[in-house]
Amino acid sequence: MTNYIREPERRTPVVAETDVLVVGGGAAGIAASVAAARGGARTMLVERYGTLGGLASNGLIILLLTLDDGRGRQVIAGLCQEMVDRLAARSACLYPPPQEWGSPDEALVEKYRRMGLVWGSGPHVVRYSVAYDPEEFKVESDRMVLEAGVDLRFHRWAVGVVRDGMRLTHVVFESKAGREAIACSAVIDATGDADICALAGEPFESERVYPWLWFRTANVDEAAAESSQQRPFYYRTVNESGYLHPWGSAQRIDRDIDATNPDDLTYAEIECRRLVRAELDRMRGNAPGFERAYISGFATTLGITESRRLRGRYVLTREDMDRPFDDTVAVTGNWTKYGAIYSIPYRSLLPPGAGNLLTAGRCISVDHRAHHSTKEIPACFATGQAAGTAAALALQRNEDAGLLGAAPLQARLVADGAILG
Ligand SMILES: Cc1cc2nc3c(=O)[nH]c(=O)nc-3n(C[C@H](O)[C@H](O)[C@H](O)COP(=O)(O)OP(=O)(O)OC[C@H]3O[C@@H](n4cnc5c(N)ncnc54)[C@H](O)[C@@H]3O)c2cc1C
Repeated sequence: MTNYIREPERRTPVVAETDVLVVGGGAAGIAASVAAARGGARTMLVERYGTLGGLASNGLIILLLTLDDGRGRQVIAGLCQEMVDRLAARSACLYPPPQEWGSPDEALVEKYRRMGLVWGSGPHVVRYSVAYDPEEFKVESDRMVLEAGVDLRFHRWAVGVVRDGMRLTHVVFESKAGREAIACSAVIDATGDADICALAGEPFESERVYPWLWFRTANVDEAAAESSQQRPFYYRTVNESGYLHPWGSAQRIDRDIDATNPDDLTYAEIECRRLVRAELDRMRGNAPGFERAYISGFATTLGITESRRLRGRYVLTREDMDRPFDDTVAVTGNWTKYGAIYSIPYRSLLPPGAGNLLTAGRCISVDHRAHHSTKEIPACFATGQAAGTAAALALQRNEDAGLLGAAPLQARLVADGAILG
């Protein structure tokens, strides 16, 4: 039985006011805030850590899978493509050129498979997927957000909301500065875990998952490693030396966790690090080339594929694969299936209740199987761009995002480079 204490009533200062408040600075939050700010809204992006990117940087998930449909046609562009272009200008990413997308050439497929850009069961073709440097991604994300005029605030956790009927009026944050409220006209939940939806009392689903902890090794004798028949699971990424190891899942760790439970997360952090070091020792003993390897970096965020997600006005399901919608605001391919496409309807970004709240990224309203596609980083950019554009457009029209018609939103997204089908 839980004991309770009663805290004294307190007054919380309202430290800022904004039009669009984006909570969470992962791929979805970056895109949402940039889109809202470029759409003319005063926009604030609040992130609990000191870096942008979420899983796409701190999680070392540094593979954009995918921007194509698996048949050689690009289906995600917009702000995701802009990020690729920015990274390319810094020589900080690698991807097949357009003339190779969809190619079944076995040598090419093998080249990109070794970089982590080809997944699923064959027969394979080259995908438009991108490997990138996470540190460059962090800096480019800062720049992209600040250049758009976003008011970026790090080191604050969203812990509460103030709701007035069908609208959220404030989000409450905690930090070393104490408890502070930010007043807003619209909120975008890009926390990955649907924290704002849960705090607002909107319906959500929860999934337990086996955690991942991706890591990197250095000081590998690459000639020996590459020619060995006993290669551990790793990818060469953008940098000349060292490897990226996608480590985790039910095969590696003995229990699943609820990623919104801090005790489960504590268990997973400690256990994953312990097991990864044991894996390093095993590689040093068994894997040619790894005799003197060391761990050059753990992901600083556990790899959590699923946690809470909104149960919104529409729940996108596996049966919706290849189905167009009148209110499509983003499209994504599937990283393991060739030719499979999901159109994502605007209603999957909207909760049933709060009219000025939207979701973006891995916590939008989809089922477990559609989530396999919609959680990928390019798709998170796409739904982030849609949510930010919608929030700004709705404010211009003096209405809540929940009442915004799809047609003007789609027109704006296409004008801004998004692909909707
Ligand atoms: C093991 C694994 C492998 C994957 N492989 C790939 C892959 O190869 N390619 C691919 O494209 N995708 C892959 N994905 C999926 C992809 O990485 C994520 O789904 C995607 O990055 C999620 O982006 P997001 O912005 O929605 O959420 P997140 O990246 O989770 O970002 C959420 C942000 O919100 C912040 N935040 C959370 N709560 C709060 C709060 N209360 N207050 C303030 N800030 C908060 C977090 O710190 C974080 O920065 C993989 C995922 C996992 C776990």
